Amino acid sequence: MALPTYIDPRKLALQGYLLEGDVASESLSRLTSAVESISKPLRAVVQFELDESRAKVAHGSVDVTVEVICQRCLDIVSVDVHAEFAVQVIWSEEHENRVAKNYEPWLVVDKMANLSELLEDEILLELPLVNYHAEGTCTGDAFIADADLETDGSISDSPFGILAQLKKK
Ligand SMILES: [Zn+2]
Repeated sequence: MALPTYIDPRKLALQGYLLEGDVASESLSRLTSAVESISKPLRAVVQFELDESRAKVAHGSVDVTVEVICQRCLDIVSVDVHAEFAVQVIWSEEHENRVAKNYEPWLVVDKMANLSELLEDEILLELPLVNYHAEGTCTGDAFIADADLETDGSISDSPFGILAQLKKK
């Protein structure tokens, strides 16, 4: 099921509504531009409810699989990103001090809120700045081959080169 982009979070909280589904990659322009591609669609489970003080809150989890560049070998690496969140809906920034400490404020000044944007924010916060293949699956040779080979074919004194020379002894 595709998640709606715009929702009324206060009404859903009053109803104790559980939303579950995918967000189309076209609705995630910031994430799309931060990665090479989204290989498995963003999937979210969001429970809307009233907390014990009757504040309107939402909590849930978001998962997405993206392809990014491995900074060791410069090939594509697939990364699973998982985020968990708990937000409290507020009308204005002045109400931030009413947000319970287990929640982040979710500023919704109109009736309707952009759910895709909230979910995208949560994923962007968890997306690592630098990504690598898991140990053993990365060739890790992009820099030695391109930059550190001397003209006579020996490896220069880069950290990798020193390691290679030590191994030969
Ligand atoms: Zn790699």
